Amino acid sequence: MESIRKLVRDIPDFPKKGIIFKDITPVLGDPGAMARITGAFEHELEHLKPTRVVGIESRGFIFGALVAQALNLPFSPVRKPGKLPYEKISVSYTLEYGQGTLEMHTDGLKRGDRVVVLDDLLATGGTAAAAGQLVEKLGATVAAFGFVIELGFLKGRELLGGRKIISLVSY
Ligand code: AMP
Repeated sequence: MESIRKLVRDIPDFPKKGIIFKDITPVLGDPGAMARITGAFEHELEHLKPTRVVGIESRGFIFGALVAQALNLPFSPVRKPGKLPYEKISVSYTLEYGQGTLEMHTDGLKRGDRVVVLDDLLATGGTAAAAGQLVEKLGATVAAFGFVIELGFLKGRELLGGRKIISLVSY
């Protein structure tokens, strides 16, 4: 995964002063890197016997859809407010740079699903925790959270309540 770390680009003061933004677009531009990421998640997740992958808008869709396909599982999106057309539930949360709400379709999961929640990056954990709450509100469980990047110094893990966390590159 050191090759992935080398591709991640640090952008200082984006989108706000004091934030070092981890730009993954060079990773997306490298098909070999994307295959290694998908393979690593597949390897870490398959023994957990998940039944569904949930991806968090918007970079979580990219990795989530690839991992769902690799594991032959259905994919469901968690989206920012006002994007989902059907009946939905929502949860509000605090993120590293602002306040947010996430939504999910009420038929986005089945009761009893064992869900892998995927996003590109774990920072303070607010986003992933909110996605986990959506999953649990719909009667499913979080089998694992998966992130390409974990900013360990922000201690996002502490918000995820001891649930299994897979992160491929940590800072
Ligand atoms: P958090 O809720 O603080 O864990 O933030 C996670 C979400 O915000 C993820 O969807 C990330 O894509 C995005 N994010 C937060 N901090 C950064 C960062 N330093 N670089 C890139 N993306 C970030």
